[in-house]
Amino acid sequence: MRFCPKCGGIMVPKKKEDGTVVLVCMRCGYEMPADEKTLASYKGESKPTERVLTTKVVSKAKKLKVSKEELEQAREDYYELVLDQIGEYGE
Ligand SMILES: [Zn+2]
Repeated sequence: MRFCPKCGGIMVPKKKEDGTVVLVCMRCGYEMPADEKTLASYKGESKPTERVLTTKVVSKAKKLKVSKEELEQAREDYYELVLDQIGEYGE
């Protein structure tokens, strides 16, 4: 995240008509050239959200495919796991 040198506002990447990306201040509109490092940091910040969304979609799709028997089996496995953990804590 970059901040405007003029007013301290948040700079956001903006693609220009010629394909180049610049950082534009949300508050005063000040523009500054964006180097690759800065853009990469912006990309890195947006990635975790995308990953979470993808994981949610995947797990949802998986759930739909799971049959009732598999679900009950999974529940039993889960209880066994919990019981195991309780046993370990008790020792
Ligand atoms: Zn500004």
